[in-house]
Amino acid sequence: NGCTHNTYKITVIPGDGIGKEVMEAALHVLNASGIEFDYTFADAGDEYAEKTGVALPQETIDAVKKSQACLFGAVGESAADVIVKLRKELDLYVNLRPVHSYGKAGKFGDVDFVIVRENTEGLYSGHEEYTDEGATALRITTRSATRRICDFAFDYAKKTGRSKVTAVHKANVLKKTDGIFKEVFYQTAEKYDDIESNDFYVDATAMYLVTRPQDFDVIVTSNLFGDILSDEGAGIVGGLGLLPSANIGDKNGVFEPVHGSAPDIAGKGIANPSAMILSTVLMLEYLGEPDEARKVEKALVETIDEGKIVTSDLGGSSSTMEMAEEVARKLSKL
Ligand code: ATP
Ligand code: MG
Repeated sequence: NGCTHNTYKITVIPGDGIGKEVMEAALHVLNASGIEFDYTFADAGDEYAEKTGVALPQETIDAVKKSQACLFGAVGESAADVIVKLRKELDLYVNLRPVHSYGKAGKFGDVDFVIVRENTEGLYSGHEEYTDEGATALRITTRSATRRICDFAFDYAKKTGRSKVTAVHKANVLKKTDGIFKEVFYQTAEKYDDIESNDFYVDATAMYLVTRPQDFDVIVTSNLFGDILSDEGAGIVGGLGLLPSANIGDKNGVFEPVHGSAPDIAGKGIANPSAMILSTVLMLEYLGEPDEARKVEKALVETIDEGKIVTSDLGGSSSTMEMAEEVARKLSKL
C-alpha cells in the first residue's frame, strides 16, 4: 500500500523440541510479509537449564522487556518455571485464545470466537491455605483488574472488527466477586456503543459453546472460568497443532502455540507449524498491523484448505518447512 512500516524489535525464544522447528517455520513465513523485524534470539527451557541450571535467565527477561513483542516456541518440563515467571515479571494480565475452526469445518461447524481470560487474580490469586477443617482459596476481584481486562476485550473487538463481547461469570452465586465483574463489564460496555454486549452464566456457557458456538464473538471472563473454557474451546476445534495463544500486558506481549515441545515427534521435522504461524498473526494484530495479520492468516488457511502441502496431522505428508515454504509463497503473492 506504499506506506512505510516500522522495524519491530522482536525477542525470539525457540525453546525445546518442536518449539525450535515451528519457530524456524514461522520466521520463514514472516520474512515473506511486508514488514521488517529485528530479531533478538534468547534462551529458555529444559536444554538451557541442563547446561546452566537456570530455565529462564535474566538476560532473556531483559530482552523481552526491551522488545516490542516476543515469539515463544515451546519449552518442556520447565514450562511452569518459564512461562509462569514471564507472566509475573512482565505483568501479562491477558491470556488470549482464539477458537477458530480451520480447514474442513469440524463437528461443530464453522467456529470463530476469542476467549479473553483475566490472568492475574480470581481464584488463581495464589492465596490458598490449610485450615483446621481442610483448606481455603481466596477468590479476588479488583475493580482495576476487571476494568483493564474488560477494556482489553472491547478494544480487541474494535481493532479486529468483531461486533460483540460476552461476559461470562457466576454472579447468581458469587454475588460479590462476580457481581463486581458484571458491573464493571457493563460500565466498560457503555464506552463502546458500536459493540454489542451481553452476559451469561459460566455453566450455561459451557453448554452453549457446544450447542451454538456461532453465537460467540469475544468472551471475557475471570481466571478459572477462562482456563476451563479455553480448553473446551480447544476441544471444539480440535488439533493442538492449530491453536495459538497470546499473553499480553500494558508493555509486553508474548505469543506462543498452545502445544508443548512434543518430545515424541521432536527432531523429525514433521510438526505442524500452524499454531506458531497463527501466534505470529496475533502478534501482528498486537503490533497494530491488522492488514498484514489477515494476509498471513489467509495464506495459511488457503494452504490448509488445499490440503496438498500440509503436515501429516492434517492428512498430508509434507515436512514442517515445506508447509511453511508454501505459506510464504502464497503470502508473497497477496
Ligand atoms: P510438553 O511436556 O512439552 O507439553 P507433551 O508431551 O505434553 O510435551 P504436547 O506438545 O503437549 O506434548 O503435545 C501433545 C501431543 O500432540 C503429542 O503427541 C504431540 O506429538 C502432538 N502435537 C503437539 N503439537 C503438535 C504439532 N505442532 N504438530 C503435530 N503434532 C503435535
Ligand atoms: Mg503438553
